[in-house]
Amino acid sequence: MEGLMKGKRGLVMGVANDHSIAWGIAKKLAEQGAELAFSYQGEAFGRRVKPLADQVGAELVVSCDVEDSASVAATFKTLEDAWGGLDFIVHAIGFSDKNELKGLYADTSRENFIRTMVISCYSFTEVARHAAALMKDGGSMVTLTYAGSVRVMPNYNVMGVAKAGLEASVRYLANDYGPRGIRVNGISAGPVRTLAGAGISDARHMFGYQQRNSPLRRNITLDEVGNSALYLLSDLSSGVTGEIHYVDSGYHIVSMPTLEALKE
Ligand code: NAD
Repeated sequence: MEGLMKGKRGLVMGVANDHSIAWGIAKKLAEQGAELAFSYQGEAFGRRVKPLADQVGAELVVSCDVEDSASVAATFKTLEDAWGGLDFIVHAIGFSDKNELKGLYADTSRENFIRTMVISCYSFTEVARHAAALMKDGGSMVTLTYAGSVRVMPNYNVMGVAKAGLEASVRYLANDYGPRGIRVNGISAGPVRTLAGAGISDARHMFGYQQRNSPLRRNITLDEVGNSALYLLSDLSSGVTGEIHYVDSGYHIVSMPTLEALKE
């Protein structure tokens, strides 16, 4: 299938480098004819994002720190001035203090709880509100989540709580914007080796464990997340909203490790 995204314009938020999930998604969207804009957090990331944006012919590359509402508003003003409207957004943003992505969840500080929630959960709601204002003919929004939202994963801690809030936000936003033809979905990705992923203590153990215990017996690739996002952002999924779509080699359906895996 070709040209699935032809004539569609969208913002990709959360590319830090070419290992980022957002980059895996951006490449698939560009291959299918989407016109892309990128936002990045701070100039150090900007220097990495700009050459990637060039690779997919994106001209709009803007700085956006989601901790700052004015920065989010300015990003969407730039998009409005340049494009007038918007068809989709990809929100692939998460952060928590890595000192609290280990040990007990119970030890999470108030300060880091709030910061994690603002960046990893609330930012999607704020971004969605700005994006929806520009989606005059309907649209599609996708955010990234992880199964630590519904089950306890060692060290994922406050990120799991933030992802639970994010997934609930997907459902509320889907209901808010559904009457306007705007769809809102989440992708729950299996572990991927990225900058954010490396912040979780014992990430290597999580990676190996899910590899051994998922039905497909392997971890997922950036291309696989990209393809699923392409489905959710294109008209192929026109009847789908409020969904959390797992791209995790089926890991979330398994309740017990195999005997072989336990022996490893
Ligand atoms: P990544 O480090 O490549 O991307 C995280 C992005 O969040 C970075 O681009 C970073 O700049 C951005 N970010 C953090 N704080 C920000 C702020 N204040 N303002 C603007 N941007 C900010 O890592 P990734 O793994 O590609 O993460 C993307 C999303 O995927 C995250 O929501 C993450 O939780 C989720 N996810 C990751 C995995 C995994 O195993 N890597 C699995 C499931 C879900």
